[in-house]
Amino acid sequence: MYPARFDYVAPTTVDEVLAVLAERGDDAKVLAGGQSLIPMMKLRFAFPDVLVDVNRVPGLDYIDDADGQLRVGALVRHNDVVASDVVGRVNHTMAAAAPWISDPIVRNVGTVGGSVAHADPLGDWASVMLACGADVVARGTSGERVIPMADFITGPFTTVLEPTELLTELRVPKYTGRGGGAYLKLERKVSDYATAAVATHLDLDGGGDIANAGIALTSVAPNNVKAVEAEQALIGQAPSEALFAEAAQLAARAADPRGDERGSAEYKREVVRIFTQRGLTKALALAQGS
Ligand SMILES: Cc1cc2nc3c(=O)[nH]c(=O)nc-3n(C[C@H](O)[C@H](O)[C@H](O)COP(=O)(O)OP(=O)(O)OC[C@H]3O[C@@H](n4cnc5c(N)ncnc54)[C@H](O)[C@@H]3O)c2cc1C
Repeated sequence: MYPARFDYVAPTTVDEVLAVLAERGDDAKVLAGGQSLIPMMKLRFAFPDVLVDVNRVPGLDYIDDADGQLRVGALVRHNDVVASDVVGRVNHTMAAAAPWISDPIVRNVGTVGGSVAHADPLGDWASVMLACGADVVARGTSGERVIPMADFITGPFTTVLEPTELLTELRVPKYTGRGGGAYLKLERKVSDYATAAVATHLDLDGGGDIANAGIALTSVAPNNVKAVEAEQALIGQAPSEALFAEAAQLAARAADPRGDERGSAEYKREVVRIFTQRGLTKALALAQGS
């Protein structure tokens, strides 16, 4: 299938990108890796009048942990994360998720920022960002705003990003104490979207109790789900198998899956329960070893 006709611009600065977005508004779409947008255009689910290709804007492809946060620029590809020593060192959840995104071709081209902006409930990165308590940085012609990931996605394929704004950066907190994380994904075949997946993150305090916990779920609701009750049940507690089992039950309750060709609702909910328990156990082992 062919997309509808569109204009194409390839600015070379963020200011130029923002000027086009300000002028064309709803008629324009940012093109990053094109791994979600182009298929949607071919299927005529999206028919922008103009594509604003941001791939020629230099300086948006950084992964930087110089201050207290891991800063991920808008043009960081999935495979940049796979290859990043920095990410492997300071964020196990991101490092664990990256190799699970589709296949090498998609990973070479698709971007983390594009995935978050796209807000596909089957997308893996939004869950990682929710579990880690990340912020989204958006720029428009009137300035920059920082949006907590928990407030960013408002529905399937819908975010608070204005059509005139560019997602420029994701800010992921670095571990505050001893930290660890995991991303467990069940897929029918290599490169498939998740049947169900769970992102986990734990920070331990000096005494070994849980200072901070993050759990988020992929493909089991109309949006990626932050399992807040499960997180709250963990914070301030001494880690134990029984505690993780309780949190896993709460996470499964937070899922709202639909039965489809990937499995029944009951099956997916059970995968969430088991993956939450396993993910927390893995996160704890990493945190205690770090
Ligand atoms: C065969 C296949 C399998 C896939 N499997 C998986 C998978 O297993 N897991 C998974 O998570 N994803 C999967 N994907 C999707 C892939 O991860 C995409 O790369 C990602 O969803 C979108 O990133 P992109 O850079 O390609 O964005 P694009 O396709 O360029 O854009 C997607 C949307 O986000 C907007 N956008 C992009 N960047 C910005 C920005 N900086 N500011 C504002 N808006 C922006 C665009 O305007 C568009 O609306 C798969 C894709 C394919 C084709």
